[in-house]
Amino acid sequence: MSDCLFCKIAKGEIPSNKVYEDEVCYAFYDIDPQAPVHFLVIPKMHLASVAEVTADNAAVAGHMMAVISKVAKQMGMVSYRVVSNIGEQAGQSVPHLHFHVLGGRDMTWPPG
Ligand code: AMP
Ligand code: ZN
Repeated sequence: MSDCLFCKIAKGEIPSNKVYEDEVCYAFYDIDPQAPVHFLVIPKMHLASVAEVTADNAAVAGHMMAVISKVAKQMGMVSYRVVSNIGEQAGQSVPHLHFHVLGGRDMTWPPG
């Protein structure tokens, strides 16, 4: 989508601090980190959120999970949290699917 912030980041049109990239997804550090380690994993194709994941594109979401697992291991993370906000009430501010990966500090539950 031409006016989507994360589509532009995935294409390199807006700079970001890259963590990982392949043909399906892109990972980069969050600009406003909420933990000592906080990066985002996004698909290169535009999907608005988890709510747009279907049987037809579920391989993309599955691939993103495998990337999270691989990158977290490479970073030496053994305990971390993966979060995806869907819609305004849940706090989604960028309408392009992304998984937050947060680690390096104690986490509380339930989340706010
Ligand atoms: P959410 O609020 O769940 O939609 O998450 C969006 C996240 O994107 C927030 O944690 C923001 O800090 C982050 N963010 C927004 N713009 C940028 C950017 N240009 N580079 C990196 N992270 C960003
Ligand atoms: Zn997008």
